[in-house]
Amino acid sequence: MADIIQLLPDHVANQIAAGEVVQRPASVVKELLENAIDAGANTIKLIIKDAGKTLVQVIDDGKGMSTTDARLSFERHATSKIKSADDLFQLNTKGFRGEALASIAAIAHVELKTKQETDDVGNTIQIEGSKVITQEIVVTPKGTSVAVKNLFFNIPARRNFLKSDAVELRHIMDEFHRVALAHPSINFLFYNNGSETFNLPVSNFRQRIVNIFGSKTNEKLVPVNEDTEVLKISGFVGKPEFAKKTRGEQYFFVNNRFIKSAYLNHAIASAFEGLLKNGTHASYFLNLDVDPQTIDINIHPTKTEIKFDDEHTLYAILRSAVKHSLGQFNIAPVLDFDRDPNLDTSYTQQKINIKAPQIEVDRSFNPFKNEPIKTESKPSFSGRQTTSFKPTPNNWDSLYIGVASKEINNNNETSVDFSEVQFESEEQTASMFDNNEVEQANTTYQIHNKYIVSTIKSGMLVIDQYRAHQRVLYEDFLKNLTIKEATSQQLLFPLQLHFSKQDVEIISQLKEDLEFTGFLFSEITKETVEITGVPVGVPESEVSIILEQLISDVENEVPDSNFSAADLLAKSMAKSLAIKTGQALKKDEQEHLVNKLFACKEPNVSPTNKTTFITMSVDELDKKFI
Ligand code: ADP
Ligand code: MG
Repeated sequence: MADIIQLLPDHVANQIAAGEVVQRPASVVKELLENAIDAGANTIKLIIKDAGKTLVQVIDDGKGMSTTDARLSFERHATSKIKSADDLFQLNTKGFRGEALASIAAIAHVELKTKQETDDVGNTIQIEGSKVITQEIVVTPKGTSVAVKNLFFNIPARRNFLKSDAVELRHIMDEFHRVALAHPSINFLFYNNGSETFNLPVSNFRQRIVNIFGSKTNEKLVPVNEDTEVLKISGFVGKPEFAKKTRGEQYFFVNNRFIKSAYLNHAIASAFEGLLKNGTHASYFLNLDVDPQTIDINIHPTKTEIKFDDEHTLYAILRSAVKHSLGQFNIAPVLDFDRDPNLDTSYTQQKINIKAPQIEVDRSFNPFKNEPIKTESKPSFSGRQTTSFKPTPNNWDSLYIGVASKEINNNNETSVDFSEVQFESEEQTASMFDNNEVEQANTTYQIHNKYIVSTIKSGMLVIDQYRAHQRVLYEDFLKNLTIKEATSQQLLFPLQLHFSKQDVEIISQLKEDLEFTGFLFSEITKETVEITGVPVGVPESEVSIILEQLISDVENEVPDSNFSAADLLAKSMAKSLAIKTGQALKKDEQEHLVNKLFACKEPNVSPTNKTTFITMSVDELDKKFI
């Protein structure tokens, strides 16, 4: 039989390698920035167009390349950074695999310009899909410029796989932050679609963090420093009260290289144990310096995961260093008597939260009897505190957004008697259950502060309170967004919220839609958002949580053909404002929720398509008793 094995041509091998190295425009950003750093640049400029889909360009003032090197740099396994395998354990450069430029050139149009300091003229090379188009002499300043255009032009499947501009830009920002944080002694500039998004001057680590994440970050940082034989730690953790709902601000740099490590992340999480609200994550910016001999960086093509020789020791040192800092700055409770009393409050609250839910059972209740039962309503839940949503009777108003505002408008009244709106849903109810199945929801129970049980003619109904309320709020918000009118409640004093620049950018993009839900903005600057009005029923204390959730939802948005900003906004706000699992509801609140749910267009699913209620017929119940 004939031999069948062939060596792949270089351009095919390069394309295959590109699959690993270049996943999206942000990967190109990372590789080019790292090459500029390795070239000893003092100033690095990143230029992005259309989230990198049209252009990613990096210009540096580093050492440049000779004519031959310029050409060689695009060959696979061509590197100036290591000479033998031993060098892998002595690395002081970002790159070493010699495949980034070759990979990028295989799947894009690349234009390189480079000049060494001592040369009079430089070189320019144009490559398209691994094919050299031109190589010429050019007049160019000292350093290197690499422009990458039309990424994935020859792999349409990969190009189509790219996410929306907002998502791709977010990935680019993330890479930019990682590299810029690891190198505060380099001046970085970032131009996005022609406008300057960042100009980060040479500074120390703390200033670099603040320049990226906003001036308010400064007061949130707690220094962490530790110097041991195996590990040197320097950097900061965020104070627990500023912990974020998203995992965004978590950075480990090992020998100036950003890395991901679930294991070390756990060390920090455990140092923060007991200090964070449920569902929030500590921020950290930590430089870990270890002997390069004790790590292996070459286990992943993008070099974001590394292998440590002695992970357990690092874990222990890291955990205790962070704990120590939190204690030293009087942030963690320590065993002395002048601890911050505020901490005690939060502990009591935590205890309240984990108390086993109590079920209220009315033993005289007969579920098949129609007459409304009279249970003593529990004391109002204003005394109860949950950390994410502070229920006061007023908060309940969020159920009535829209309804409430209509009433206010029509009757010129400021307070609304909600018992009157209870049955407005009946018409739609009829279409939901043909023969008017849902009886007036006047026999409701709440179980485990999670489900509401009610009777219907054919049997019983179990509603998931969180999902149901999300559905109700979602439809209300969506309605306001489409008819473009909502009632705002003016704040007595404008609310000033601080965000990072890119978060403010997201809010500015959504400003108009947010206004249709009832938000009023008086000023949006680079790092602050000033709010003068909020949707009716939205407590002021919730505003920052809502916006933070919204930003994180926009960032994680998975674009599909149905995606719309209004929909995302309505979903996100409904998620933030809906009564949560674990919240006790009074009888009338339960009933109102049931009625509102069945007045919805799509009562059976939550905005994220999860079942909101189930029914069980008497027949089915009967079967259970056979
Ligand atoms: P690696 O960085 O792993 O060596 P690359 O494909 O990224 O591989 O780059 C190949 C070589 O091209 C580098 O080793 C370096 O010598 C040269 N090079 C790349 N970018 C630059 C730059 N901005 N300035 C100077 N030299 C560069
Ligand atoms: Mg490189």
